Amino acid sequence: GQTIGILGGGQLGRMLAVAASRLGLHCHVYDPAEGGPAAEVAARATCAAWDDEAALRAFAEAVDVVTYEFENVPAESLDLIEAIVPIRPNRRALAVSQDRLDEKDFLRDLGLATAPYATVDDAASLDAALERIGTPAILKTRRFGYDGKGQARIMAASDAAAALAEMNGAPAILEGFVEFSHEVSVIGARGTGGAVACFDPGENRHEGGILRETTVPARLSAAQRTDAVLLAAKILTELDYVGVLGVELFVTASGLVVNEIAPRVHNSGHWTQDGCLIDQFEQHIRAVAGWPLGDGARHSDVVMENLIGDDVDRIPEIAGTQAAIHLYGKAEARAGRKMGHVNRLTGPAR
Ligand code: ATP
Ligand code: MG
Ligand code: MG
Repeated sequence: GQTIGILGGGQLGRMLAVAASRLGLHCHVYDPAEGGPAAEVAARATCAAWDDEAALRAFAEAVDVVTYEFENVPAESLDLIEAIVPIRPNRRALAVSQDRLDEKDFLRDLGLATAPYATVDDAASLDAALERIGTPAILKTRRFGYDGKGQARIMAASDAAAALAEMNGAPAILEGFVEFSHEVSVIGARGTGGAVACFDPGENRHEGGILRETTVPARLSAAQRTDAVLLAAKILTELDYVGVLGVELFVTASGLVVNEIAPRVHNSGHWTQDGCLIDQFEQHIRAVAGWPLGDGARHSDVVMENLIGDDVDRIPEIAGTQAAIHLYGKAEARAGRKMGHVNRLTGPAR
């Protein structure tokens, strides 16, 4: 059978490897950290640095297609891999979602609503950005941010200097604060033949910048639901995308505003494991392996709860309830670390 190469060895890679294995495919994980969540379940794993050319070449030669769960693989490493084997989703999809400025420009050029934004490199450009956008606003590093890291809120102009200092000199973007009622996300997929399938939007609740809970169905009107799915399809098609993509949205009085996109399976799509016949992990593997997409129709209403840090201590209690448990096999339950999640079915799909 085919062998799928996965760059990155965290929980997303682990769940992709499990899905691939169920389809009779082999996985080869490449990750600089030894014995991570994905390496443990994959048929093969390479533990080497992102810039180890010999290891990257041997990895690329051993697989039929490469996908990724980690978005910050250096461009030169991807060049080396791509000379040997296709990378799905493609490089442009990755580049656009790696940099918040490129991402916002891309979305704006597609005609999609985003927060007002401006690029910030120093105190002068921050002043100019605040002049135009006003407060409250959020300063974010353009690259490498996740789980709310690399962000500083600016409630009044007097917060500007402290916020800029938090960027540690990294290129940044100022975003106007979007007045939203709630947050939702769409997990969409596109196959090699151009077919698109989207899962039902889920409603996301964050705590301390980290996703805490996703509920399906989300509170959306039929029109909003259609808008969400259509805009995800537009993004997928414009990027000539192959694989699963996560699109985070703010629900506002004037419509849906795109927050960010993730070129991979997404934490807010974990509910699909127990709410759909074909989940986001199988859908991604089907797409990158060149198979037809599966039917992502939702059969149940679901609440997905992330287990963060010592939340995992509740597993013995949770195990006695009707909840599907997904643990990532991480040894140490550090604060803020995603250790697993549980899906609870709340009834047949409404
Ligand atoms: P993730 O872990 O989802 O990749 P991240 O670190 O990339 O998170 P964002 O998604 O940009 O961060 O922001 C985290 C959260 O902060 C959002 O889900 C939202 O609740 C809030 N937020 C971010 N940007 C804005 C904005 N412009 N207006 C209002 N709230 C925002
Ligand atoms: Mg993000
Ligand atoms: Mg986000």
